[in-house]
Amino acid sequence: MSKILVIGAGGVGSVAVHKMAMNPDIFSHISLASRTKSKCDAIAASVKERTGVVIDTYGLDADDVAATTALLNQIKPSLVVNLALPYQDLNIMDACLAAGVHYMDTANYEPLDVAKFEYHWQWAYQDRYKDAGLMALLGSGFDPGVTSVFAMWLKKHKLKTIRQLDILDCNGGDHGQHFATNFNPEINIREVTAECRHFENGSFVETPPLSLHQSFTCPDEVGTYEIYRMYHEELESLAINIKGLKRIRFFMTFSENYLTHLRVLENVGMTRIDEVEFNGQKIVPLQFLKALLPDPASLGPRTKGKTWIGCQVTGLKDGKQKTVTIYNTCDHQACYQEVQSQAISYTTGVPAFIGAKMILEKKWTGDGVFNMEQMDPDPFMDDLQKYGLPWKIIEGPVVQL
Ligand code: NDP
Repeated sequence: MSKILVIGAGGVGSVAVHKMAMNPDIFSHISLASRTKSKCDAIAASVKERTGVVIDTYGLDADDVAATTALLNQIKPSLVVNLALPYQDLNIMDACLAAGVHYMDTANYEPLDVAKFEYHWQWAYQDRYKDAGLMALLGSGFDPGVTSVFAMWLKKHKLKTIRQLDILDCNGGDHGQHFATNFNPEINIREVTAECRHFENGSFVETPPLSLHQSFTCPDEVGTYEIYRMYHEELESLAINIKGLKRIRFFMTFSENYLTHLRVLENVGMTRIDEVEFNGQKIVPLQFLKALLPDPASLGPRTKGKTWIGCQVTGLKDGKQKTVTIYNTCDHQACYQEVQSQAISYTTGVPAFIGAKMILEKKWTGDGVFNMEQMDPDPFMDDLQKYGLPWKIIEGPVVQL
């Protein structure tokens, strides 16, 4: 029985809070705080209607460390689940240290003015969390998150040594909009337009964004899509934590329509993340673009199709090279029926709920800052099967990349 505070009332926060409320034996008291209180109240109303559970809501600017600390001292939760934006990570980690509360998130800290997708800012909290006897769990979404756990489960049960790891993320959903992103547009566009990096033979290799791509037919009749190599934050921690790894890459599918829109927006300067002067005030073009694009949470009722996310892993089993693929398929409409969200928010919100559950149940413990692959994969994998993200295994590759 534990009190929890979720910060961030977006698409992911909504799914996580619904799932927590469906498990009141573990999440005995849920509070939800976000910048716009009315968004918390709308989620609370949906949770009440679907589960009968009442959750407390608060308006909070999580960049204000003193205000967040005060709220933590008032609520006294066992854990803060940070589902706001990556910009808030360090401020919320500071507030957790000040109030003596465990911390968890789904995305690495990002400075506002430069896209980095690097962990060193958060890893620098290692000693402070350790000395305080607190745990900070980083990246409990799908990727990062489930894919890291998938890899470690394969290492534990199927392949003794992992040599090559390809993370494959395919969204076969169609929302019928000309252009929209499936999670926070700012973060999504920053990721996709960043230089590509992948790890090979001991170091990261940089290549132009989306320069390597090919056709990929997803299993389970999800569809055939063009899949592109890009950088993703978990490559950094997995390259360190999987000993003996020779190569790790991340691939994601995009439609030609999405990429054409993105190219035009980039060419006209709308994806810039630096400030520009406009009518006497400073604006960041990408933040302005976000205000114009559909809210990812609004895509739920109209998105049809499936997501397919997995790891294709090559390693050694009994001295012989072997490839195994592990994946989850998720149906956008089924997610909407269950918690009124499309599958991208669902596939992130459910692992956030399970990560929080691991910490509250003390199945995952430790003092300091941890990435997902540093934890025992077994209890998390069991819960994926149980709580909406069942996984399957194919003995062999699904694509030659
Ligand atoms: P949304 O933009 O839908 O939601 C973010 C929420 O955070 C909004 O409610 C927003 O408030 C709130 N927020 C922003 N700034 C503050 C602040 N200063 N103080 C308090 N609240 C704030 O994003 P998503 O739900 O799509 O994504 C949430 C997180 O999940 C992001 O960090 C994203 O990168 C991560 N993610 C991780 C994935 C993974 O697989 N690991 C996949 C997808 C997302 P307001 O409503 O006022 O704007």
